[in-house]
Amino acid sequence: MAFTLPPLPYAHDALEPHIDTLTMQIHHGKHHQAYVDNLNKAIAGTEHESKTLAQLVAHAGAISIPVRNNGGGHWNHTFFWESLGSPASGGTGVVPTGKLADAITAAFGSFDEFKTKFAAGGAGRFGSGWVWLIVNEGKLAISSTPNQDNPLMDVAEEKGTPLLGVDVWEHAYYLKYQNKRPDYLAAIWNVINWSKVAERFEAA
Ligand code: MN
Repeated sequence: MAFTLPPLPYAHDALEPHIDTLTMQIHHGKHHQAYVDNLNKAIAGTEHESKTLAQLVAHAGAISIPVRNNGGGHWNHTFFWESLGSPASGGTGVVPTGKLADAITAAFGSFDEFKTKFAAGGAGRFGSGWVWLIVNEGKLAISSTPNQDNPLMDVAEEKGTPLLGVDVWEHAYYLKYQNKRPDYLAAIWNVINWSKVAERFEAA
């Protein structure tokens, strides 16, 4: 069964001014669509055609480079869109509460320290990749992956269940922030959907 591009869970301009409309249109409509199309091409007519995206991602390194890159790309972007929200839907001014807030404080000292370490993880990723908040056996950690890898993959250096992932490829921010990746990573806090992150933490 072929994979399809999921619709954005909000309008293209919903994350303005922090993430601009044109970036969202190109990022979702062109980049994410290309990962979906190339994943479908990579598995067409193979034994992997009937597998779920989760199965493909879990064994991505063992399957093939195209499945690793494009299966990862499809999974990561779907996860990313769901991790974000407009200020009205829970972005600006909203911070984690409850068990998630307690776990963040326990792991990183405070919410502000968590944000600093997460941004450093994203800024420190050389080239293209992702920065993640993951949970492994109840413990939170920040990790980063190259290209379209993620912490669920067999090839991940640090494995865990992703709770939050932020795309640090230039295509995610270049139109508005140019070479200033740290500015993008500072602005992203305005549009994180913390209720979604908390829901993932409860389920993990
Ligand atoms: Mn991207």
